Amino acid sequence: MAQAEKTAIVVADIQGIIQWSNEAFARQSGEASDEIRGRPLETILTGLDGKPGSAANLVASLANGERFSLAREFAAKAGQTLWVDTVVERICDANGAPAGYILFQEDASLRRMHEQELASASAAIQGLDSQFEQAIERAQQLAVDAAVANQAKSAFLAMMSHEIRTPLNGVLGMASILEATELNDDQRDCLRTIKMSGEALLAVINDTLDFSKIEAGRLELEDVEFDVRACAEEAADLLAARALAKNLELVCDFAENMPRCVRGDPVRLRQIFVNLLSNAVKFTAAGEVVLEGRLENCADGVCTLRFGVRDTGIGIPQDKQHRLFKSFSQVDTSTTRQYGGTGLGLAISKKIAELMGGRMWVESAAGCGSTFAFTMRAPMAAIAVPAPEVSLAGRRVLVVDDNATSRAVLLRHLRHFQAESVAVADGDAASALLNAGERFDVVLIDYHMPGLDGLAWAKKTAAVGRKVCPFLLLSAVGESFVEDAIDGVFRKPVRRGTFAERITQALEHKKSSHSATAIADLAVVGTAGRQPLKILLAEDNAVNQAVARHQLARLGYQATMVGNGALAAAAAIDGDFDLVLMDVQMPECDGYEATQRIRTALPGPNRPWIIALTAGVGSADREDARNAGMNDYLSKPLRPEALEAALARAFAASRAPVGV
Ligand code: ADP
Repeated sequence: MAQAEKTAIVVADIQGIIQWSNEAFARQSGEASDEIRGRPLETILTGLDGKPGSAANLVASLANGERFSLAREFAAKAGQTLWVDTVVERICDANGAPAGYILFQEDASLRRMHEQELASASAAIQGLDSQFEQAIERAQQLAVDAAVANQAKSAFLAMMSHEIRTPLNGVLGMASILEATELNDDQRDCLRTIKMSGEALLAVINDTLDFSKIEAGRLELEDVEFDVRACAEEAADLLAARALAKNLELVCDFAENMPRCVRGDPVRLRQIFVNLLSNAVKFTAAGEVVLEGRLENCADGVCTLRFGVRDTGIGIPQDKQHRLFKSFSQVDTSTTRQYGGTGLGLAISKKIAELMGGRMWVESAAGCGSTFAFTMRAPMAAIAVPAPEVSLAGRRVLVVDDNATSRAVLLRHLRHFQAESVAVADGDAASALLNAGERFDVVLIDYHMPGLDGLAWAKKTAAVGRKVCPFLLLSAVGESFVEDAIDGVFRKPVRRGTFAERITQALEHKKSSHSATAIADLAVVGTAGRQPLKILLAEDNAVNQAVARHQLARLGYQATMVGNGALAAAAAIDGDFDLVLMDVQMPECDGYEATQRIRTALPGPNRPWIIALTAGVGSADREDARNAGMNDYLSKPLRPEALEAALARAFAASRAPVGV
């Protein structure tokens, strides 16, 4: 009922003359039934679409039995207009003969209002849509601009790095050559400053280049199998001399559960170790720096390894720790003047750890030392073939070391090789054991101990006739001894790989030389200069040529020199060289192309061993060199030790049964 009253109804006869209308129509139009009765139906249909006459046409069309319906604006009472939905149709009598017309009309204002709101909302949305599209387009453009800018930045940095490295190669190379000559103290001081400044500049360039690569998302990790412990030990070796200079104990302490081989990027992992270790050594005045490692967990062949570099240094106050890991940030700028540094090392290390699926954090307090810890995820190596290890079963070893961590690590190594071991903290305790008649097969004694040092103890013990077994002195890189009281020198930090072998050598009285400096580890390097190698040096830059020539001369080699790739290829093809040191960036024909030419002309084992000389240090450079068919890779500035090691590798390869 209520519904019916809402609908306005008007009835007209067959001539179209209004006969009746209801209350609802009166409410809509303001005209009661009496007022409109007798008027033509068209009069209440006027204003349809605002087109005069159109109502008459519609009514006429109704005569043909049609029905019309439409939404329209209707002239309501008191000059108002109303949106209505109107339907008019013809009605028939009981016999089916046309009898009149009936009009139904609904107030559609509310719906109309909603429609309008909807329309303006959708217009607004459309507007937003287009704004949104514009924003997306703009963002995409910005991203393209940023990528272009990043590329430009990276290219600029790579170019700058190359341009700076070349003269730096001259500075550092010539400095190390001068170092080997006779100099007075003043000159040596100046030279040390030149070398240190050069090294510092090189570190800045390397860090900046790495950082820009990381920022541009272009740092790619290698995926090779490697020995995790050896990687850490190599990093520790690099810092051993610096730690020794500050009288710090540097120890590699790996848990036995650490997998031997995993897959990943050993170069980048070593970079993190070196960064953290050099910070630890830098910010520690006394005590120890320990590189720890352990397996956190392993699932589906993928392990999470946890490493930490712990020091007993100045520590970092809690409220300053948030500054760590941020690029170009130092905890205390006043320390920068004291210690130097770019403030990039930690930012780079953290990013690398993250790229390796791990994270990095610090645990520290002012004055209490710091531990920089990180994790990485690495698949287990497919072939985990344990290297044949020497057993020390049945052997009794005495360890004499004042540093507790170092003692614990040595005991762990000895346990690993099944030796029975006893550890004491000083020479007096060791003497007491020997005096009490304890028997040992070998004594490992630390050189750097407060009071009586290891060497003095060995001499004293030998002098009183108590030296009944080999004495091995534990010392850091670079120290050599010519003493009868000792039977060998062990490089600290001790390497697991050569540990048992060295002890066995001593037990078998294979005293190679008392003056040996970590003989086993350096053996291959030391022999390079004595090997007959015919060398071709392809290098366009005069400074680089001079540096390489001098360094080769110091190692006992002469080289034939050429200044571009085309000459290098021609000389290598005709010249019967054993080895080519090939700069990769040369005019006319670069080192890669020259290598291709050589490989095409000399396909067999007669081909010389080719070592790429590149200005870059990244794995991409190494990869490029390998892809071009080069056998080895050296980055500039050329370091005498690296060159010597590369020559030794070349020589070893030339002796291998199958040509490479
Ligand atoms: P830098 O090249 O300046 O050493 P890093 O990013 O490696 O840059 O280190 C940033 C800062 O963090 C250092 O300048 C130092 O203030 C602080 N820091 C890093 N390692 C240690 C540490 N082991 N002990 C104390 N402070 C440290």
